[in-house]
Amino acid sequence: MTNDEFRRYGYAVIDWIAKYLENVERYPVMSQVQPGDIRAQLPDRPPDDPEPFDQLLADVERVILPGITHWQSPNFFAYFPASSSGPSVLGDLLSSGLGIQGMLWLTSPACTELETHVLDWVAEMLGLPGKFKSDSAGGGVIQDSASSASLCALLAARERATGYETRRGGLAKHLVAYASEHAHSSIEKGMNIAGLGTDNLRKIPSDERFALRPDALQAAIEADLATGRTPCFVSAAVGTTSCGSIDPLVEIGEICRRFGLWMHVDAAMAGTAAICPEFRDIHRGLEAADSYCFNPHKWMFTNFDCDCFFVADRKALIQTLSILPEYLRNQATEAGSVIDYRDWQIPLGRRFRSLKLWFVIRSFGVRGIQERIRRHVAIAQQFAAWVVADPDFELAAPEALSLVCFRHRGGDAINQQIMDRLNQSGQLYLTHTRLCDKLTLRLAIGQTNTELRHVERAWQLIREASGSVA
Ligand SMILES: *Cc1c(COP(=O)(O)O)cnc(C)c1O
Repeated sequence: MTNDEFRRYGYAVIDWIAKYLENVERYPVMSQVQPGDIRAQLPDRPPDDPEPFDQLLADVERVILPGITHWQSPNFFAYFPASSSGPSVLGDLLSSGLGIQGMLWLTSPACTELETHVLDWVAEMLGLPGKFKSDSAGGGVIQDSASSASLCALLAARERATGYETRRGGLAKHLVAYASEHAHSSIEKGMNIAGLGTDNLRKIPSDERFALRPDALQAAIEADLATGRTPCFVSAAVGTTSCGSIDPLVEIGEICRRFGLWMHVDAAMAGTAAICPEFRDIHRGLEAADSYCFNPHKWMFTNFDCDCFFVADRKALIQTLSILPEYLRNQATEAGSVIDYRDWQIPLGRRFRSLKLWFVIRSFGVRGIQERIRRHVAIAQQFAAWVVADPDFELAAPEALSLVCFRHRGGDAINQQIMDRLNQSGQLYLTHTRLCDKLTLRLAIGQTNTELRHVERAWQLIREASGSVA
């Protein structure tokens, strides 16, 4: 592709994306294809000769688009939002255009310095404790996902608990970790990857609000100590994926301090809300945490992937993950005058992700982000009020910012039918969880352009779907 062609097709791609986003509400939200449908349309072999670019774009429309679930539709209420925005897409595009590797400060100083700076901004925006900022002993880094952030936290906890010996081959045999029974599956996966073993994750029971019970946590730690094990890590959730519950950070922090455990706080979905001072309460007790993460790629209008991970003691993380082969040695690193983010993550290579986050923050302004978060929460509250007022429906969990868990009172079968009918209709997309052993519907609001009218229509469709199956 020549530069001239790149320019021409580049404009065409931007036009294509703009048109797609303009029309996104016209597509069935959940892709309606069957397994194998997409592959059946692809040639068995790659082309020997170059194909014209127009053809590629036409095939995206013809072959790929039917197999797309439209996460950027304002009628997408499934799982969690993956909210995107124009400034984020353009920031990501620039990052692709620059095509750099940001593993060391030296390999592109701006990549490291912008990241450090933007993460200090983010810490300030969310009102995070000062110890997570780069002018303290801690600091922030962008990871690909909350799963990776939690794994890094777990690895650092493992090393801190074993005098930084496990990484060299020492045994981590007696280490145990704790999280609520509603914690995200990535914590369990992290136990597997970190070599601690999934059986050594204690799933602590929760209370009637689905929040971790501190008394049960303490009892589990004491039981493990009594049998010669070494408790090392607690992951507390601010906004569980299942139902948005918030673990009691103050009490968990006290327990972690008393027993010397690493306290990680996973706020992947809900953390963004703290940008509004009136919701900052969700972080009460965060001062005690050793690490914290949240995903701008969920609810802060930034394309996947972008997780902000903060640690209070960057030395612990670096000592856990650093490796310095000869071919990466350089003066800036040796002098200790720069940050090399490769030591803060699992892979060596890294993309220039702070560019899109910087674009989002500057384009929306803090106030612009706050307004959307407030709007989403207000819409969720309105939806919850409709549920409460309808004798056929009930709320299944306390209101949790932009996530509403609810169900028809008629039992699992009718809730399953509501969900299946709506998802197959393509008009909206909802997913479920199980709470108190009952099938529970989740309305996760947070797509950048979701407004009250979308949720009003969703509620109408939900009631119709229940009425027609009753
Ligand atoms: C979504 C979510 C995760 C996983 O996020 P990834 O960035 O996809 O790894 C982890 N924890 C919570 C609470 C989540 O909501």
